[in-house]
Amino acid sequence: MLIIDAFAFCRNGEQQAGTLQLTELARLRAECVSDAGEVEWTLAGGMHASSHPELRLTVKGTMQLMCQRCLTPFVFQIQSESAILLAQDEQLADEIDASLEDDEIEVIEVGKTFDIMTLIEDEALLAIPLSPKHEVCPKEKLSAEKLDAFAKVKKESPFAALKDQIMFGKTSAGKTKN
Ligand SMILES: [Zn+2]
Repeated sequence: MLIIDAFAFCRNGEQQAGTLQLTELARLRAECVSDAGEVEWTLAGGMHASSHPELRLTVKGTMQLMCQRCLTPFVFQIQSESAILLAQDEQLADEIDASLEDDEIEVIEVGKTFDIMTLIEDEALLAIPLSPKHEVCPKEKLSAEKLDAFAKVKKESPFAALKDQIMFGKTSAGKTKN
């Protein structure tokens, strides 16, 4: 756990940064296929234009996820930034949320002590797609390269091979009929 006094943190404009290993973040680890990975984070406190305390959080990291298309692991990078406004209680949180009309900003209720490790892990989890996939799966890449190679061969001899095949087909078809 990484505990801060979130209101004081914002009031004093404090900043913190660190790196968490994937093995320290059980919920995030559960989404990954190996222990290898880490999350770098920065947290800055301040005041939002609406004069409510505001935390700005960035997370950046690398981890191994399972591709849902070809079911092989691949390296995934997360990078995200978010703004979180703080409220002393739930009612105030709802009021701030309603007055902002900005879905990008999250408003949360926090007490005197606040565990930022949970906040960092939540942010990292949000940055992982629901159904993670390679941009191009290795198998598809391979078959695309094969198709390329095939296209090149065909270009070099456009009709010769095809003609042979048709002739051969006719002959053998005739033979089987008789
Ligand atoms: Zn894949």
